[in-house]
Amino acid sequence: MGGFFGVASKNDAVLDTFFGVDYHSHLGTRRAGLAAMDSELGMQRKIHKIENSPFRTKFEKILDEMEGKSVIGCISDSDAQPLLIRSNHGLYAICTIGIINNSDALVNQYLSFSGGHFGAMTTTGVTGINASELVAAMIDQKSDFAEGIKFAQDVIDGTASILILKEDGKLIAARDKVGRLPVLLGKREDGFCVSFEDFAYKKLGYEDYKELGPGEIVEISADGVEVLSAPRKKKKICAFLWSYYGYPTSCYEGVNVEIMRYRNGQIMAQRDKELGIAQDLDYVSGAPDSGTPHAIGYANESAVPFARPFIKYTPTWPRSFMPSNQKERSRVAKMKQIPVHDLIQGKKLLFVDDSIVRGTQLKETVDFLYENGAKEVHMRSACPPIMYGCKYLNFSRATSEMELISRATIMELEGEEGFKHLDEYSDAQTERGKKMRTAICEKLNFASLEFQTLEGIIKAIGLPADEVCTYCWNGKG
Ligand code: SF4
Repeated sequence: MGGFFGVASKNDAVLDTFFGVDYHSHLGTRRAGLAAMDSELGMQRKIHKIENSPFRTKFEKILDEMEGKSVIGCISDSDAQPLLIRSNHGLYAICTIGIINNSDALVNQYLSFSGGHFGAMTTTGVTGINASELVAAMIDQKSDFAEGIKFAQDVIDGTASILILKEDGKLIAARDKVGRLPVLLGKREDGFCVSFEDFAYKKLGYEDYKELGPGEIVEISADGVEVLSAPRKKKKICAFLWSYYGYPTSCYEGVNVEIMRYRNGQIMAQRDKELGIAQDLDYVSGAPDSGTPHAIGYANESAVPFARPFIKYTPTWPRSFMPSNQKERSRVAKMKQIPVHDLIQGKKLLFVDDSIVRGTQLKETVDFLYENGAKEVHMRSACPPIMYGCKYLNFSRATSEMELISRATIMELEGEEGFKHLDEYSDAQTERGKKMRTAICEKLNFASLEFQTLEGIIKAIGLPADEVCTYCWNGKG
């Protein structure tokens, strides 16, 4: 994933951008960077690894090192950025978010006529080509930035939201062509900013100015915003922004994440009540952190108390500490969870998680609860069964579709034939749907298991169904 933030101001904008980028730290854990344009110092740029220490620690000296009234920055889960590019469009800094599935083809096509070259990165991307460098190569093939970005949007298979800082101090921001990810603009008396997360600029005293439409391209200066290319018609915003990885205080398309999660939990509780399942409970709880608000919604609706039977020890276990080996990862996950015995011993618990991907960690959590004396552990997934790996964002939490617990279980139940009936497996009312749920319950030791329905999650988001990407669940992107 990743996120970006930029400012064009009448005053120095380094500190605002420092805080603005820091508020995107939940979106990536590998690299971060800032680029600033100053009339005397020219273009400056810093990039650091943030794998083992947070953005703020790595960039705290930035105020002594950089100056500029126009600054951009990003948090990235893959490539080092922003990149500095000198081309027919002059010198500019660029950062991008998303994924390019056809990098090989685009690189070969570019090299076939340009005689140019790419830096061969050893650490990034499928092809080892930095995605922002590839996007810049697409942009530079056209006569101006807007035409170049439109060309890049058209030829890229995948998703690319783009932020550019030009030598004249103006910023260019472009949302990906179907608006899979958000790009929002804020306004303050001394300038404008651009951000993935709206709360990042609100904390800095900016007000909402506008949310870019799908594929929309704008040029931003301290004095105003000019639309270079109007929004495209088709919108497919990622549903997981609300259910899993968006920050709770954020709004996308006017819909707040935390409130959507309460609504989502409420809908799941209403359904369980209608079906008469898991009605005798002591506590409702959420798998921290993103499961918690779905669980609050569930608890409020069901009138079963919300409780935290275990609490993560966060002060010394930063999110970014993630050993590569599975055994050590499981150990870390276990060490983080500290039980509250009185809330577990002899209790019937219902847990809500944001989703069930591979189920490995969830099984460990459930085993941990039983080891600590739980009587029953029921599980609810705040989204439908995940049947497909994401091909639109650098997001997948499973390395292959066969790692997805739904697919793996279907394979065990009836082999590849089962993949022709994924709709039935998603639906709890069909025989196949019931069998898959029973098999997962046995495998992961759940007293009962249910998933939010597709209709339920769309209702909780509140946008028209055809404007939301639901590919993970029903293969419709
Ligand atoms: S496939 Fe899933 S994760 Fe990817 S954009 Fe669509 S809803 Fe989001």
